[in-house]
This record gives sequence, structure tokens and C-alpha cells, in this order.
Amino acid sequence: MFLRYEGAAWEQRFLPRLTSKQVNDLPKEEALVILSVGAVEQHGDHLPVMTDALIGEATLTQALEKIDADEQVWLLPPVSYGKSNEHLGWAGTISLSANTLHSVIMDIARSLKLSGFRRLLLFNTHGGNTDLLNVVAREIRIATGLMVFNMAPHSLNVSADLVSEEELEYGIHGGDYETSVVMAIKPNWVQEHLRTAEFPDVARYELLTLEGRIRFAWVTDDISESGIAGDATKATAEKGEIIQERVTDILAKAFVELSKFEIKDVKKGKAGRVPE
Ligand SMILES: [Zn+2]
Repeated sequence: MFLRYEGAAWEQRFLPRLTSKQVNDLPKEEALVILSVGAVEQHGDHLPVMTDALIGEATLTQALEKIDADEQVWLLPPVSYGKSNEHLGWAGTISLSANTLHSVIMDIARSLKLSGFRRLLLFNTHGGNTDLLNVVAREIRIATGLMVFNMAPHSLNVSADLVSEEELEYGIHGGDYETSVVMAIKPNWVQEHLRTAEFPDVARYELLTLEGRIRFAWVTDDISESGIAGDATKATAEKGEIIQERVTDILAKAFVELSKFEIKDVKKGKAGRVPE
């Protein structure tokens, strides 16, 4: 279960609960600021449109419980809306344009830089944001000099023994994985009796894949009748709890590691030359 504004994430690590002076006085040499970027978009008949934003907040709430109190890991208010134009026209979907989302994240990054921070993590819970965030992360690096990280908890590959092979390949939206997670973190927001299964039919192609090396551009109406891709009927809260436990174990370690990362140490210096 996940309770908003309770626990260490919100009581001890929520940056805007501090005063300006307190933020100013924080030790920022080894500090990480986390910005969750989610989405509000249709997730089939059984999941709330808040699903991606909800998973972001819940996962961070759970992960930040696992970090020692003296680590400098700070949480920003989330950007709940994402780039969801693949779902536009499905009621409840509220999308930012690529330009708007780019600008919002860049403005937040510039402000953090002016507050004295050095590291920003873009914590993404919506597949449709991924390409844009890859672009924005580098633009922030160039524009502000911040060290920028970019990740998605659903890409940590923790569910291979929990879901089917078909789900691993095609279960990208509202399927077993995502439904299990929401059943674990906010069970009363899932309409279990309306769960269904639908997989896009691309297995017949040898080289073309949905999200692999050779892709095609799609919107939800191209690939799904129900609005989902995956098998939500197999979802259970127990699976969701295992997924969250594994994901947050990794995240707790990752956040501390990132808070101490120094990009200047990456370049080793003179390249080895071919001997003459
Ligand atoms: Zn989702």
C-alpha cells in the first residue's frame, strides 16, 4: 500500500517542504534531486488514467524508505502529465506536447541549477516519454552543466520469472506487469472484474518489433482495440509486491550511487595510441 505524503519520502526527502534558507544550506556536493515524470492517459477499462503518475509516486515513496537518513537524496513534486499523444481521443487522456514537456523539464532543471544543485534524475514511468527524455537529458547537460540521469523503473528487468514471454515482449501497456503493480500499491483503484487481455499481432514479422531494434510508429488505435497491450487477467497483487520489492531494492542503491557520481571522472585522459 502507498499513502501519499506519508513516510520518509515526503517527511524527510521532499525538497519543497523545506524553506528557501534550508534548501540553500543543504550540502549539495554529493546530492541527487529526483523528478518523477509520469502520464495521465487511458489504461484500458480496468486501470485509472493516473496509472503511470501513480506508479512513479508510489515507487519513489517505497524506495526512499530504504535509504539511510544521512544520504542527500531529494524528491521534487512530480510532473504528473507526460507526452501521451498516442492515446489522445481516449477519454481521460491529458497529454502535454513534446515541446511543452521539454520546456517544463528544462525550466525545472535551470531552476535547480540556480538553487545550487549539481545532479538531476529524470524518473520516468511512461514509455511514451522515453525518447523525449533522452533528448531533454542531454539538452539539460549542455544548457546547465548539471549531471543528468534518466531511467524508468519498468526497464529494470525484474519480472522475467513472474510474467509470460509474450508479456515481456508485448506487455507494454495495462498488462500483467503494470496491473499487478497497481493492484499492489492502490488495490481499490483497480476494477479487477474488467481486466482483459490483448496482444498486438507483430510476431509474424521476423525483424520488425514493437519496441525493439526496428520499429514502426504507432498510436494506440493502430495496435489495440481495448486500449491495452498485455494480459491483465493474469495480474495479482502478490506479483506486484514482488516487483516493487525488487525494483525499490535496486533504486535505493542506485540513488545513493548517482548522488556521488562525478562526470569529470569518466574521461580517463590520454587515449592509448597504436605503438609506432
Ligand atoms: Zn502505463
